[in-house]
Amino acid sequence: MTRIIDGNEIADEIRADVKASVETLTDAGVQPGLATVLMSEDGASETYVSMKQEACEELGIAGHHHEIGPDEPADALFDRIDELNADPSVHGILVQMPVPSHVDKATVLERIDPEKDVDGFHPENVGRLVAGNARYKPCTPHGVQKILAAEGIDTEGKDAVVVGRSDIVGKPMANLLIQYGDGGNATTTVCHSRTEDLAEKTRQADILVAAAGVPEMIDGEMVKEGATVIDVGVNRVDADTEKGYELVGDVEFDSAKEKASAITPVPGGVGPLTIAMLMYNTVKAASVQSGVAVDLP
Ligand code: NDP
Repeated sequence: MTRIIDGNEIADEIRADVKASVETLTDAGVQPGLATVLMSEDGASETYVSMKQEACEELGIAGHHHEIGPDEPADALFDRIDELNADPSVHGILVQMPVPSHVDKATVLERIDPEKDVDGFHPENVGRLVAGNARYKPCTPHGVQKILAAEGIDTEGKDAVVVGRSDIVGKPMANLLIQYGDGGNATTTVCHSRTEDLAEKTRQADILVAAAGVPEMIDGEMVKEGATVIDVGVNRVDADTEKGYELVGDVEFDSAKEKASAITPVPGGVGPLTIAMLMYNTVKAASVQSGVAVDLP
């Protein structure tokens, strides 16, 4: 029987731990604060930011939301980041990507105080992750690690294949899988758009993480019998629904399910973990910056 992994259930457990840590901090006079900054009128970005703000409210984290018009100069964003860096009530800063084309993304990432960089994308934090000394693990790959742990799927010595090499998912995912210790020690292959014979690679995977952003590109034929399949992809495809679209992953669920021993659905798989891990990182940031210890597993 293939296990359909319930990401909402795993995320709820993490949120409960995060909430307990928020209470520890609040009792000590420190309310964790997360600033979200949106410089876009893109509907999906607006939705993601409002989901993050809702999660803050639910867990007792102070959400500070900032909007900057997409036509404003880059300095409007940089100045706002400087203000948030200096604000002691803000422990975490998240600039929702993508930013407009006239704003240099690398400068945005470097402008955020690394201690407040709860996405984990500042070069200092990327370096720490690679060195095996992560300050904040990027939320989506960290969420995948939490799923594997919650499901009792040992990564040690396993063949892991990550499809996708982006800075936010593929690369940090691979980096986590090759680290020493729990959730790591996997023999890890990273595939991308130039990979030759992708199916030959994915069929080697005991643990297959799909993060390519291509709807249902991985079918059952590409999955090893008994593999764990983690589908990070979230793709809108036209559909006869009220909204005119539906969300599908990078994995063709029905055929992959026939081969996998465990698989995440879309939606309801990795997505809920991403937000839970953002809350986790925010509370960790508040703890580090205030010196109040919390017990976050
Ligand atoms: P990017 O577009 O930044 O990266 C996609 C990666 O996939 C690239 O490395 C690209 O290769 C590779 N790729 C694209 N097409 C193919 C192909 N045909 N074969 C092999 N590799 C391919 O995407 P992200 O990493 O930001 O996101 C990936 C997916 O995950 C998206 O669907 C996104 O919506 C979703 N996502 C979901 C989250 C969640 O919470 N569930 C959070 C973040 C993202 P190359 O580098 O050569 O171009």
